[in-house]
Amino acid sequence: MNTYDVIIAGYGPTGSTLAGLLGHAGHRVLAIDRDADVYQLPRAVHFDAAVMRIFQTMGLVDALLPHTRAIAACEFWTAERQVLLHVPMDQPTEQGWRSDYLFHQPSLEKVLRESAGRAESVEERLCTELLDYREDADGVEVELRPHGGEVERVRARWLVGCDGANSVVRGRAGLDLEDLIFDEPWVVVDIRGGEEIRNVVLQYCDPARPTTVVAGAHDMQRFEFMLLPGEKGEEMVRPERLRELMAPWVDPDRVEIVRAAEYRFHALVARGWRRGRVLLAGDAAHQTPPFLGQGMCAGIRDAHNLSWKLDRVLRSTSDPAILDSYGSERAPNVRTFIEGAVAAGRVVCTQDPELARQRDESLLAARERGETPPGLVGQPPLGDGLFQGAEGERHALVASLAPQPWLKVDGVEKLLDDFTGPGFRLVLREGAPEAKARQALERLEGHAVSWPDPTFFEEHGIHAFLIRPDHAVFGVARAPEQVAPLLEDALARLA
Ligand SMILES: Cc1cc2nc3c(=O)[nH]c(=O)nc-3n(C[C@H](O)[C@H](O)[C@H](O)COP(=O)(O)OP(=O)(O)OC[C@H]3O[C@@H](n4cnc5c(N)ncnc54)[C@H](O)[C@@H]3O)c2cc1C
Repeated sequence: MNTYDVIIAGYGPTGSTLAGLLGHAGHRVLAIDRDADVYQLPRAVHFDAAVMRIFQTMGLVDALLPHTRAIAACEFWTAERQVLLHVPMDQPTEQGWRSDYLFHQPSLEKVLRESAGRAESVEERLCTELLDYREDADGVEVELRPHGGEVERVRARWLVGCDGANSVVRGRAGLDLEDLIFDEPWVVVDIRGGEEIRNVVLQYCDPARPTTVVAGAHDMQRFEFMLLPGEKGEEMVRPERLRELMAPWVDPDRVEIVRAAEYRFHALVARGWRRGRVLLAGDAAHQTPPFLGQGMCAGIRDAHNLSWKLDRVLRSTSDPAILDSYGSERAPNVRTFIEGAVAAGRVVCTQDPELARQRDESLLAARERGETPPGLVGQPPLGDGLFQGAEGERHALVASLAPQPWLKVDGVEKLLDDFTGPGFRLVLREGAPEAKARQALERLEGHAVSWPDPTFFEEHGIHAFLIRPDHAVFGVARAPEQVAPLLEDALARLA
C-alpha cells in the first residue's frame, strides 16, 4: 500500500497552498481532488496584504501579479448613490504590500497547483474522490475512488481535509460547525465587456435590491444581487432576469455573461479543527459571507499556520501536541473576520426602507465623526497557542502579524523576508545576537537581522522581536539580555 507523510483531500486554494508548502519542505504529499481541473469559475475576487506576503514566502508574487488588479477603494452607497462609507484599498501596509488586491481565482489556483507540482515529493491525483478514512495508532488509511475505477486504499501519517464547505473529512471526523447566524441567498454574476463602473468595490445598500459590484482582474466584472423574499435562485439566473438585474449598471446588450449562480452566504466555524491525525483547513473548517472578501484568505492562512507545525512534527523536531495550537490559534482569528463580515453584511442586506433610512443617517453621522466603518477588523491577532507568555499578560505585539520593513544591507534594498528567507526570524534594533542567543537561534533554525530604524522598537518599548514561520510575532525582548531567554522559551514551547 502506498504510504505518504500527508494526504491532502481537496486541491482548491487551501489544499494547493498546503501541498506547495509541505512539498517544497521535502515531505511526501498526496493531493487528491475529485474534479479534473481547477474550478473554472471565480468565486473569490479579493485577497489582502498578509496573503500576498504568504505568496511572497512561496516565491509566487511575479507569477501572480499578472492575475491581479489594483483597486482604489471600497464604497458603500445609499439607494440615492450617496457615499455612505469610503474605505481605501490602495494603502501601503506594514506587511510590505498594498492593502488589497483583486484577482482571478482560476488563474491563481493554477499558479498554486503548478508550484506544488514542481516539488518532486508531491503527487497529484485528480478525478479521485476521498470516500472515507480509518485512523489507527500509526497513521490514517484513506479510501479513494478514481472516477470510473476501483476503490483503493492509501496510508499517510496525517490527513488534512481541505475539501471545502461540504467536507467529507469533517463529517467522518465528527467535527461539527458552529453557526454564527447568517444565511442569505444571493445571485452571483460574472461578466466580460460593458462599461467599467469605477475602480472601487461597491456595496450598493438599496433596500429594494442590495447589490455588490466589483471590477475584477482579467477584465471581468462581478455583480452580486441579494434575492428578495419569494424570489427563487433558478428563476433569477435566467438570462431575461439577469438582464433586468444588471440594467441599472451596464448595457446588458454589450456584455457577455460568463456565469451566474445562486449562493447562500453562511457564517460557520468548526468547533474542533483536529481529531487525532486528522485536521481541517479552509472552507472545510469555516465559511464566511463574502462582504470582507476573506474566505479564501482564511484558508491560505490556515495552510501557512499548519504547514510549519506539520513540518516540525514530520521531522520529529516537535511533538505532535504542537498541532493542537493550530485550531486554538486560527479559530479566534477566523471568528473575528467572520463576525466582521456578518456586521458588514447586515449593513448591506437591510431590506426594510425605514431601517435603511435610519442606517443611512447613523452611518453618515458616524462618517462625519470619523468613526471606523462597521465590520472593519484589520488583521486580528491569533488565539492562544505557541507564544511567549500567558494570554492576557502578553506584550501587545505577541500573536499579531509582524511588520515587514524594507531593509538596506550592503547597499541592496529588499523586504525583510527576502533577506532572511522563511523560518524563525529574530529582528534586532541593532547589532547581532550574542553567543548564547546565536546558539539558541541555530537550534531554532532561525536567522537574525537588524532593523536600523529605531521608531518601531521605541513605539513598542522593545529591543527585539521573534517572528514565527507564519509571520506571527512569537515574543519580544525588552532589553538585549532578554534575547537569549526569548529564544530558549520558543525552543521549550516547540519541543
Ligand atoms: C460569491 C463568493 C465570493 C467570494 N469572494 C471571496 C473573496 O473575495 N475573497 C476570499 O478570500 N474568499 C472569497 N470567497 C470564498 C472562497 O471562494 C472560498 O473560501 C475558497 O474557495 C475556499 O477554498 P478551499 O480550498 O478551502 O475550498 P474549495 O475552493 O471549495 O476547494 C475544495 C476542493 O475539494 C474538492 N473536494 C471536495 N470534496 C472532495 C472529496 N470527497 N474528495 C476529493 N476532493 C474533494 C473540490 O473538488 C474542490 O476542488 C467567496 C466565495 C463566494 C461563493
